[in-house]
Amino acid sequence: MKKRVFSGTRATGRLHLGNYLGAVKGYIELQDRTDLECVFMAVDLHTITTPYDPKTLSAKTRDIILDYLAAGLDPEKAIITKQSLVPEHTELAFIFSSVASMARMQHLPTFKEKVKQHPQNVTMALLNYPILMAADILIYKAGLVPVGIDQEPHLEIAREIARKMNETYGTKFPEPVRFATSGEYVPSLSGEGKMSKSVEGSFISLTDDLKTIQKRLAGAPTDSGKGDVVPTTGGVANLLKLVKLFQGEDRYKQYALSYMHEGIRYRDLKKELTDAIYKELKPIQEKRIELEHKTSYVDEVIKNGAEKARKIASETIREVKEKMGLL
Ligand code: ADP
Repeated sequence: MKKRVFSGTRATGRLHLGNYLGAVKGYIELQDRTDLECVFMAVDLHTITTPYDPKTLSAKTRDIILDYLAAGLDPEKAIITKQSLVPEHTELAFIFSSVASMARMQHLPTFKEKVKQHPQNVTMALLNYPILMAADILIYKAGLVPVGIDQEPHLEIAREIARKMNETYGTKFPEPVRFATSGEYVPSLSGEGKMSKSVEGSFISLTDDLKTIQKRLAGAPTDSGKGDVVPTTGGVANLLKLVKLFQGEDRYKQYALSYMHEGIRYRDLKKELTDAIYKELKPIQEKRIELEHKTSYVDEVIKNGAEKARKIASETIREVKEKMGLL
C-alpha cells in the first residue's frame, strides 16, 4: 500500500504567501512522488469554528480549490476536494473525541490564541478543532502532513490520538509527521508574528498584482538600514526572510553584508523583492483566470475527488467501528 499524505486549508480567505510556501509548495512536491497517495482539501468545516458568513462560505471554499489548481495541484496526481463532502471526517472526529481529554485541548496554545481573538465565540467546535484535524489526517491513515510549523501542536494531538486508539482498540493508525518546506514559517509583513489571512496588513495574497504587492511591502517596517548585527526579529528580519525565500540564499547574504557595511537601501530592496514575488505569482494568476471559466471542470474535480476520498474514508470508519463494538 502507498503511504498517504493529507493536508487542508481553511476557507477563510484567499491563499497568501504563507499558505503557498508553507503548505501548497509541499503539496506540489509530494503529488509528484509515485510512492505516495495525496489528499488535499479545502477544509470548510474547520472554517465554522470561528465566526464566518454562511452566504460566502461555499464560494470561499471553491476559491481555495481554484487557488490549489492554479498553483499546480493536479487532480490526475492527487485527490482534491472539499472536506464537508466526506462526512466520515466528522464521524471519526466524534469517535476520536472519546479518547481525547478536555484539559489537553483547553491548554493548547492555538486554542488559547483563538479564545483571545474571538472571546464571544468560544464554542465546542473550536475546542474540537484539533480532533477534527486528527480525523482529517487519520481517516486516510496519512503518515505525512505538509503544513506550516504553526500546525505542529495539532499534529502532536493527532499522534496522541493515533497512539491511544491503537492501544485501546487495536487499530492501526500511523503517527503522522509534518513534511516541512523551506517556507514553513512565513513572517507577517507587519513585523510581528506569522503571515495570516485573518490579520490585516500581515499578508500578500496569491492574487495580488504588482501594484498591490508594492503597496503592501511599502507598509512593512524598516530601520536605518545599518548596524553591527543583522536583526533576527521584527520588520527587517521578516523582509530579509522574504528575500531568502524569493530571491535565494546568495541575495540574502549580500543584503546581510550590506547591513553591516554600507547599509541597505530599503526602497531598492522592496522594489527588487516586489518583482521577485510577482514573477512567481504571475503564472499562477494567469492559470487562475483560465480556471474561473472552466466551471464544469472544477465541479468534476471536486466531485471525483470526494468519491475517491469517501472510498478510503468509509473503509477506515468500518474498521474502527468493528474494533470498537459499533458494528
Ligand atoms: P491562516 O492562518 O492564514 O488562516 P490556515 O490556518 O488555513 O491559514 O493554514 C493553511 C496552511 O497554511 C497550513 O498548513 C498552515 O500551516 C500554513 N500556513 C499558514 N500561515 C503560514 C505562514 N505564515 N507560514 C507558513 N505556513 C503557513
